[in-house]
Amino acid sequence: MQRRFLLNGLAALPLLGVHALASSAMQVLLQSLKPSPRMPVLFVGHGSPMNAIEDNAWRRAWQSTGVEISKRCEPQLILCISAHWLTRGGWQITSMPSPKTIHDFGGFPQELFAQQYPAPGAPAVATQLAKELRSPVTNQALQTDSPEWGLDHGTWSVLKPMFPKASIPVLQLSMDYSRPPAEHYALARQLVYLRDRGVLIVGSGNVVHNLRLVQPDVPDNQAFAWAKEFDAVVASQISRGDLDALQNFLNLGEVARMAHPSYEHYLPLLYAAGAAGAKEMPRFFNTGFQAASISMRSVQWG
Ligand code: ZN
Repeated sequence: MQRRFLLNGLAALPLLGVHALASSAMQVLLQSLKPSPRMPVLFVGHGSPMNAIEDNAWRRAWQSTGVEISKRCEPQLILCISAHWLTRGGWQITSMPSPKTIHDFGGFPQELFAQQYPAPGAPAVATQLAKELRSPVTNQALQTDSPEWGLDHGTWSVLKPMFPKASIPVLQLSMDYSRPPAEHYALARQLVYLRDRGVLIVGSGNVVHNLRLVQPDVPDNQAFAWAKEFDAVVASQISRGDLDALQNFLNLGEVARMAHPSYEHYLPLLYAAGAAGAKEMPRFFNTGFQAASISMRSVQWG
């Protein structure tokens, strides 16, 4: 099947938002989080939206990761930070009972637009988290969003293969794209306690993401030299537990600008790394490239 890519990595408005079936109306919504064994943290490289429905190695790794996590300890809640929900002037948390599946892309087959991920929301928990988490800019509580967002494809394209039953409540946390990387990392450091309350934190983006230079016909795992270089630097920082260094990626200069002409796909890595511990052993999976300019490298801590 031909692979196609988003033309604009910053495109965040739903082109075709279809309300998911209100499955949560049939079930009791999660009211609060209970203490749990420490949950893992994930950063997932999502790449092309087609990975949601193509049977390929990337998607099979997402499936096995979901099975492994569920066997160990079923998450009470998934908190996803996606490259595709950018806000300005503050961070927001989705708080609707039935988040809609957002098809925020164009030029893909109808089969992709037909995909739904009817996971319930958790309004009471979202309200609580919005109070507990503080803006690193103003130190004020975060905002909740019930009318606007839902689950964008950075979230559902990955979670659907991982947790196909869609039974675990999902919240999204937006990223205030007007703020510098260090502030995203600072907010992420606040998320650590949630791992002991049954929350699976998932950052969904890409370690390298340059859509202007995608080469759809290049086989998987071939990549530009600058893409390999940036990916290797990030992998090295993660491997040696130098997670604080990840927020300074722009200091890498030209190679960083090539890897991220805009850096919304990098920021979710800061959220996952911020919620991880420097001494926690990372496990890489899906190391490799899609279309020469997208790194699919994914990381699990814990
Ligand atoms: Zn994306």
